[in-house]
Amino acid sequence: MKVLRLILGDQLNIHHSWFQSVNEHVTYVMVEARSETDYVRHHIQKVIGVFAAMRHFANHLSQNKHSIIYLKLNDPAHGRDVGTSVLKIAETLGCDRFEYQQPDEYRLSERLIEVSKSFKSAQCVESEHFLSSAEDFKAVFKQRSNYRMEDFYRFMRRKTGVLMNGASPEGGQWNYDAENRKKLPVNNAGPMPLMFDRDCSDIHQMLIECGVQTIGSVASNHFLWPTTRDEGLRMLSFFIDECLPYFGDFQDAMTPNGWSLYHSRLSFSLNLKLISPREVIEAVEAAYYADSSRVSISQAEGFIRQILGWREFMRGVYFENMPAFASKNFFENSRPLPEWFWTGKTDMACLKHAISQSLEFAYAHHIQRLMITGNFALLAGIDPDQVDDWYLGIYIDAFEWVEITNTRGMSQFADGGMIATKPYVSGGNYINKMSHYCKDCRFDVAQRTGPNSCPFNALYWNFIDQHRDKLQSNHRMAMPYRTWDKMDADTRVSILSRAESFLANLK
Ligand code: FAD
Ligand code: SF4
Repeated sequence: MKVLRLILGDQLNIHHSWFQSVNEHVTYVMVEARSETDYVRHHIQKVIGVFAAMRHFANHLSQNKHSIIYLKLNDPAHGRDVGTSVLKIAETLGCDRFEYQQPDEYRLSERLIEVSKSFKSAQCVESEHFLSSAEDFKAVFKQRSNYRMEDFYRFMRRKTGVLMNGASPEGGQWNYDAENRKKLPVNNAGPMPLMFDRDCSDIHQMLIECGVQTIGSVASNHFLWPTTRDEGLRMLSFFIDECLPYFGDFQDAMTPNGWSLYHSRLSFSLNLKLISPREVIEAVEAAYYADSSRVSISQAEGFIRQILGWREFMRGVYFENMPAFASKNFFENSRPLPEWFWTGKTDMACLKHAISQSLEFAYAHHIQRLMITGNFALLAGIDPDQVDDWYLGIYIDAFEWVEITNTRGMSQFADGGMIATKPYVSGGNYINKMSHYCKDCRFDVAQRTGPNSCPFNALYWNFIDQHRDKLQSNHRMAMPYRTWDKMDADTRVSILSRAESFLANLK
């Protein structure tokens, strides 16, 4: 029986059991699909990066004697989407059997179930990338729908034995988060980010000729992102050598002088499956055990939690709750996303920097996504559909399973508290404490009222006031409500009026 095996653009796992031997009955197919470039307006670096990585992967398979059909975006043999392309190729080759790896995206998962029905036989196999399964997620949370990452993380530590001493966590604590909240010294911008010599102008030119609409910019002579497994591994080594010893300390720090600081920038290689979460975690664990005076437990644990905890957890939440999750809107927010989210042209220094670097590098680190752009969007009551589209398009690592759970769930609290115990919102004080943005801003972070006051301040209290019915019973919100209620009536009126006039002029 002739078999057609589909490899999606984010399934570039060369260690998958499929590729360990050559099977003469199998033809692999990879498709640069227009339906994938167009479901949202993506950053140019993201589209180039995914296609470059796919092309390299296809060449590698072909050099290793696997039979492969690769459809470039401008190939006339395309169907309407990945599914119809698969059906066309299967018909031409006379394939009766279809095999595919479990897609991470709900949309593609549903589509391929549909496509499978047109074959005599079909099979969906594991992508052999993640460390947890849907059953693990169900076992931890049973019937609960307010998931807590920490419960899942401890389960994963026990399951994998990572940073464990028998039944106890290494160092005696599960979590060293409290030690990981330092501000960067003024002149510290982290190491110079690793880049790769790669000319992607052929793909860029093809995208222009095909009329693909993108956002952001791309340099012509180098590429910031790994597009091969070797480059992904170089990025991992760079992280272990240059960033890991400070990762936890400065995990929440922000500065206008640097754009990736001590973060790993491994999300793109991980999400394409060029590298595996297991090898990343093992490398970090090995660095800690080799020399804990260089890589302390709080740095190692802080990093491992992101991958073994957050990344696996978000995938569990996604599969357990799609498609309903994609339309959640707890606060019923409906304001349009301001135009300057697409240009970075705003006087608010923190937003200007976070958005401008996102347009330039297709990247912002976690705390910029959560406490600058996400915080603002929630305080301003932006429609979560528009917030999702922005995050899904602009970041190199944005794939719906990990984007929507972070955006709609963690950042916008649109799920009403499935993921976060309270909304991640703050006034300017928090941003000033964790960054060096405020000193060069046209707004005054110390003021709450008046035209020069930091907009985050009035918006924060406005948010607290406006959502009292939904938040007051949350015990983690008790303090802000006590503080708000203690303010004198005139101050409250002035703050609300500053928020109202700011929002009225928000375009
Ligand atoms: P590091 O800070 O070095 O962290 C290491 C790794 O941990 C990351 O590479 C990532 O794989 C994982 N990780 C860290 N935090 C999370 C998290 N909250 N959820 C899942 N994995 C995590 N991550 C994506 O991969 N794709 C997205 O589309 C995405 N959208 C986000 C949207 C919002 C609003 C927020 C607040 C976060 C989002 N994240 C997303 C999570 C996180 O911000 C990125 O994974 C991280 O910034 C990627 O940069 P890094 O590789 O340098 O991460
Ligand atoms: Fe951002 Fe307010 Fe600070 Fe300006 S003053 S950088 S708007 S937090």
